[in-house]
Amino acid sequence: MTPLARLLAARIAADGPISVADYMAECLLHPTHGYYTTRDPFGAAGDFTTAPEISQMFGELFGLALAQAWLDQGAPARFTLAELGPGRGTLMADILRATRGVPGFHAAAEVVLVEASPVLRSVQGQTLATAGFAAPRWLDGAEDLPEQPLFLMANEFFDALPIRQFQRDAAGWRERLIGLRGGVLAFGLSDHLPVPDLPAFQDAQPGQIVEVCPMALPVMSVISDRVQRFGGGGFVVDYGGWRSCGDTLQALRAHSFDDVLAHPGEADLTAHVDFEALAMAVPAQAYATQGAVLGRLGIEARAAALAQRLTGKALQSHLAAHRRLTNQAEMGTLFKVLAVYPAGAPLPPGMM
Ligand code: SAH
Repeated sequence: MTPLARLLAARIAADGPISVADYMAECLLHPTHGYYTTRDPFGAAGDFTTAPEISQMFGELFGLALAQAWLDQGAPARFTLAELGPGRGTLMADILRATRGVPGFHAAAEVVLVEASPVLRSVQGQTLATAGFAAPRWLDGAEDLPEQPLFLMANEFFDALPIRQFQRDAAGWRERLIGLRGGVLAFGLSDHLPVPDLPAFQDAQPGQIVEVCPMALPVMSVISDRVQRFGGGGFVVDYGGWRSCGDTLQALRAHSFDDVLAHPGEADLTAHVDFEALAMAVPAQAYATQGAVLGRLGIEARAAALAQRLTGKALQSHLAAHRRLTNQAEMGTLFKVLAVYPAGAPLPPGMM
């Protein structure tokens, strides 16, 4: 048992079963045993790799897309350049590096990182400093995003937000809970209970699981509020689809799938993002696959330009990274992009 498993077992023994959302929140962000609060999990030595860690092209292209959206909206003199869940800070560093040549963009930008983990905040600060950029401002949550134009990036942030799971049977809905069996964490079901009034619940068959992410809507609502009231735009990139289907909760440990209940606090826990639910919070949005968006943003040309300067192993790994980001069999189709923009403004670059 991990130290967090012992704590959770004691809590459940005293207070009864907990929701999947409570379990995820504890596993990821428990102050002393949480997965993100205690480590830097990214890269070859860690548990998983993300698009900005695979290639600088990801941040460069989305950074230039944000700068173009800023120009298209008349280059507001002061704006928030925000990232949700910045991991190692690599994406923001690539965004800033790529946009250095856009006149006025850096001078107008207030760089804000929404990050819950103190360990990762310190890694992010170091990454930006090493790349030659000033210290950003950190926020605990999206609700504190300043009331001014907002240009935003969120890559693999929403998949880390806690989800609740509900299961249909002939008589109605029960919530999947985590309790104890023989002293060990085990899944069970609640009594029947009312469920949110969402399309996913209406179409479900007996046996089917429906997931909802209670924090996603408030976060999207804040983004939408800033973008609609003050201008701006954002790209939410994640894996998932248009409507969550079935049980998508998964644990990843040392680049392999793990039992979700086996190593609380020591494995990454994620769930597919339900983009339909995110889109419901915003009046103007566009949706496409990561491969399609990177293609329209010019990844072929950028990849070819970078390839010219590379040889041998470095060239091979650059070509592999390009494939990994865009290929249908890899991240190209599994990952989706939801772009948010002010109603009436031009569609953000890459979305048409
Ligand atoms: N965007 C990065 C990292 C994705 S991992 C990349 O692409 O490499 C998820 C990130 O979100 C981590 O930085 C994690 O600490 C942060 N995070 C997870 N839940 C959070 C929450 N509720 N509030 C703020 N940050 C959170």
